[in-house]
Amino acid sequence: MKPLLINGEHITTSNALENRNPSDENDVIDTHAQAGIAETQTAIAAARAAFPAWSRSGPQARHDLLRAVSDEILARRAELGELLAREEGKTLPEAIGETVRAARIFDFFAGEALRLTGDIVPSVRPGVGVEITREPVGVVGVISPWNFPIAIPAWKIAPALCYGNTVVFKPAELVPGCAWALIDIIQRAGAPAGVINLVTGPGGVVGQAMLDAPEVDAISFTGSVDTGRKVAAASVARMRKFQLEMGGKNPLVVLDDADLDTALDCAINGAFYSTGQRCTASSRLIVTEAIHNRFVEELASRTRALRVGHALHNDTQIGPVVDATQLRQDLDYIRIGRSQGGNLRAGGDLVRRDTPGHFLQPALFTDTTNDMRINREEVFGPVAAVIRVRDYDEALQVANDTEFGLSAGICTTSLKHASHFKRNARAGMVMVNLPTAGVDYHVPFGGTKGSSYGAREQGRHAAEFFTTVKTAYTLP
Ligand code: NAD
Repeated sequence: MKPLLINGEHITTSNALENRNPSDENDVIDTHAQAGIAETQTAIAAARAAFPAWSRSGPQARHDLLRAVSDEILARRAELGELLAREEGKTLPEAIGETVRAARIFDFFAGEALRLTGDIVPSVRPGVGVEITREPVGVVGVISPWNFPIAIPAWKIAPALCYGNTVVFKPAELVPGCAWALIDIIQRAGAPAGVINLVTGPGGVVGQAMLDAPEVDAISFTGSVDTGRKVAAASVARMRKFQLEMGGKNPLVVLDDADLDTALDCAINGAFYSTGQRCTASSRLIVTEAIHNRFVEELASRTRALRVGHALHNDTQIGPVVDATQLRQDLDYIRIGRSQGGNLRAGGDLVRRDTPGHFLQPALFTDTTNDMRINREEVFGPVAAVIRVRDYDEALQVANDTEFGLSAGICTTSLKHASHFKRNARAGMVMVNLPTAGVDYHVPFGGTKGSSYGAREQGRHAAEFFTTVKTAYTLP
């Protein structure tokens, strides 16, 4: 059994949860201790006790810790990538890519630890000095989803530690393996006891105990809208800082003047890679009239040709759906799409392989309208729908007609339309001739409307959430 990590110690519990491989349900990767309310409170108390010393530790200690974590993740990327592919179902190259990304994030924040600055400004009152500095927020609760088991924890934990906060980390139930490996690395790299704590366990118990604890000063959450609302309500009630990254219903607009191959690559990658289980996945493909039929014809044949299979097999392009519950949700939406008049043009069937896994051929709908449920609700699986529109103006209007606003893409060779779309797409991230998914690790990440709430994550903007600004006045 992999234990909890609280106050620098391994803690076992009487109950444990199996971590199973979605490519092969017979493959039990490990078992993980399950925290309850008491263990969560112990972890929060440990983080509280560790905070004063860590908040004063200084840039060199924080740099050295984060740098050592980055180095070990990078050195072990093949092994950690394999673990990630086994527990989450991304293909091995995708999983190794995510692992390398996590290492780079720690490296980036190792540098940021050395670059923290403040301002000294003249006061409007003669003789008075004004200093503006950033201070850590305190104990940060990190609650993460299953779809990026190492990168999302990395992009929350690295900046939290960089700016002098201590952390209680609760990963998603489906991916405790990468979480354990990451926290084990941070602990062995020299994090003082209590600076980082891992509490694996159910969201309704461990996550809720974190939300209910007045000693948690800030919550960084990524996951579904429903859980995000609970985080928000509990945090507002306690006047606690919080940030939410939630769902998407991301549009990819394809205009008549697009390069067809580029548009097809963007659609296949954005809609179906990582089994469509990305908050930035392109689930609505909004296509103008003159290119529509050629685009749809070619996209349907490419969708049928995608090789679905075991995440660790060399020729697999699309790994399994993460678990039976998510697979049921995907199949439900495929049924709903058909019942509301969508044309299931390619895929959508269960696929049998040598191992018992949750394999689904990516589904492409055509002849859909933006008011259908498959175009309004997040499926979070390999399901995409084409919406035919007259022209750019209608494409933009449809793209923005959603309650989400994470990422929006356009494929066009027109500078005029690309520029207009960048300014007018109501999304936190805009992609021109690139898939809606796939972002850099050193720049801000986040959305608008129902997709995100609070300060941006990643890059230098992370300081906004993980620090509090102090303004000090001195009359010498
Ligand atoms: P989820 O909301 O079910 O779970 C997210 C986390 O919240 C898990 O760790 C879970 O255990 C925990 N949780 C559940 N109930 C809780 C409660 N009452 N109190 C506190 N914590 C609780 O989401 P998921 O199914 O793991 O992830 C999929 C969702 O995440 C999708 O909607 C996807 O779009 C979103 N997501 C968003 C981004 C982004 O950056 N915008 C990135 C990845 C995933």
